[in-house]
Order: sequence, then structure tokens, then C-alpha cells
Amino acid sequence: MILPKANRLSPEQVAEITHIVEEFRCRIQPIVGTVRTIYAIVGDERDELMINRLEGLDYIDRVDKIQSPHKLMDLRSDLATHRIKIGGVTVGEELLVIAGQCTIDPKNPQLFYETAQAVKEAGAHVLRGGVWKPRTNPYAFQGDVKSLEILLEAQRRTGLPVDAEVMDEQQLKLALDAGVNMLQVGARNALNYSLLRSIGRAVADRNTAVLLKRSLHMGPVNEFISAAEYIVSFGNPNIVLCPRGTAPMLDGYRNHPDESITPLLKEKTWAPVVVDPSHSVGKAAYVPACALAAVAYGADGLCIEAHVSPSQGIGDDPKQALTPSVLAETIHQAKEIWALRQRKKA
Ligand code: PEP
Ligand code: MN
Repeated sequence: MILPKANRLSPEQVAEITHIVEEFRCRIQPIVGTVRTIYAIVGDERDELMINRLEGLDYIDRVDKIQSPHKLMDLRSDLATHRIKIGGVTVGEELLVIAGQCTIDPKNPQLFYETAQAVKEAGAHVLRGGVWKPRTNPYAFQGDVKSLEILLEAQRRTGLPVDAEVMDEQQLKLALDAGVNMLQVGARNALNYSLLRSIGRAVADRNTAVLLKRSLHMGPVNEFISAAEYIVSFGNPNIVLCPRGTAPMLDGYRNHPDESITPLLKEKTWAPVVVDPSHSVGKAAYVPACALAAVAYGADGLCIEAHVSPSQGIGDDPKQALTPSVLAETIHQAKEIWALRQRKKA
């Protein structure tokens, strides 16, 4: 919909915008009001170049798009009935819990095996474990490919599907060949479109799920959904959106908690939302409340860092991992909120 600055366009201006939209196989339909005339774009109005050209005209106030820019992620797409199944859960029908260490310590595999068993007993359906780590400080521990074998051994021991972050094509190939069930795109790479494309291509003909974190620097809801569209456009709809806090505004929290984005995502996309409260607030003491708030806001699941002995952990674990007993209690309470939501729906 084209909204001119003046009450209506002159015949010359109509001719100019008609010329532009026809290049994109669209046409203009004036909608005449008592005071103002606006102009509907009839046809596929999603071409960004067409919108940019129209918005660049000095007599145009703005161009409002009615069609969604997301062909596949849109709530009205044929994929809207798609359900993701992982760890025995059909996401959306039961609260999905992903839990485990931020980082696997390759020098201490036993700790990870104990964490894996403990998160399973606490009620997690998917085991997370960082093999390669995106660290702000280049001298901090960057992860180790040896941890991949530890992750897979924990998968064998517990029977849980496993989730790990990949940051480049080499890691992507290693993770897929090893049998990682859920690939994590971290907050730092959620805007790395060539990586998103590579992941989409690599998982196209597999059942592998992708957990896409929200970037620290993502603003509009559509930016997050568009990042997911990059992956899904290669043919695999097993995408899970994961808000995890954006650039910090509240002194005290690691990031700015963004679990309230869930209802906004749900208005636009069918994709499930699994919130990560651990990176959002960044401190174990604050994580349970953030997790419960996320479920109250409508999340389909939670991704929580947990460790059998956080003080012996590396990466984020000493400061933000929950102990297994706190994890179990948080899952229990989160399920109560989930049940309350179902009762409200009925
Ligand atoms: C992580 O999951 O450990 C991690 C680094 O997450 P994020 O990309 O959200 O910072
Ligand atoms: Mn972490």
C-alpha cells in the first residue's frame, strides 16, 4: 500500500509509480477516500528493490507491505501444520527442555557424562554441550574438536539427542557426520547469512533440527524470522527460534531479557519458540524466574545451561549453570505454568 505525502498523487506521479511497479509485474489500484487517496499494489509486492524505489520518491510518505516477506516461515504458509519431533517430544504439544553444559571440558569427560545423566533425570529431552565456543576474548578457551566424541558418547549413554553450536562449514560437516541431532546457530552468527545458507543446504535432506538463537543486535521481529527463512528455504522446516537476550540495557543482567518477544513471533510465524534464559540473564540465581516468565509468555520450550558441579565447569558454567536439583525444580514449575496455559486455552 502506497501512502503519498499529499492527499492524492498527480497524474504524472501515478504514471511514474505505475512504470516502476509494472517492471515488477504489479499494478496500482487507487483506493479513494473522502479526504485521501491511497494506492494498493496488486501483485507480488515482496520485491525489496521495488519497495526501495517507491520509498525513494520524494512525494511518497511510506509503503506498507501487506504480504509477509516470509514465504515459508509465515503463519499462513503450507508449513504451518509442520511439527518438529525431537527427544520424544512433538514440539508444541509438550514443553521441550534442552539442557546441559555450556562447554564440554575435553580434559574431564566424566563430568559431562554425569551432567548428561543428571539433566536426563531432571526431565530434559535434549542434551546440549558446547564443542566449539564463540568467545569474546581470543585467549579464552575456544572449544576442542575432541569434545565432539564426548558429546556423542553422552548421546549413546543417555539415549538423548544432542545439540551443539557450529560456527563454520568445517564444524558443520564434522557435527553432521558425527550425528549431532540439533545444530545450534549462536547469537553471534544469527546474522551471518552465508553460514545460514550453508546450514540450510547441509540439512536440506536430513531430519536434523536447527536451534537459531536471536542475535544480540537483532531489532524487529521480522529480522529474526528472515534469518530462519534463509535456513528453511533449502527444504528442511525443522527450525526452532531461540530468544536469548539482546544487547544489555539493564545493569546486572548479562543481556536484555527478551522472552516477551514470543507472542509477537507467534503472530507471524508457525515456528516453535524455545527460550534460553541462561544467556539472557547470565547468572544462575536469576535463571529460574526468567525460565518461568518465558513459559508464561507462551514459549514452547526452554534451553537451559546446567552442570553437575558448576564451580568445576568452564565457559559460562561457573556463573550461569543450574545444578541438577534447581533444574529439576525449574522444569517442574515450568510444566505447571504450561498446564495453566493449556487450561486457559480450553
Ligand atoms: C551458548 O549457547 O553457549 C552460547 C554461546 O550461546 P549464545 O550464542 O546465545 O551466546
Ligand atoms: Mn554458554
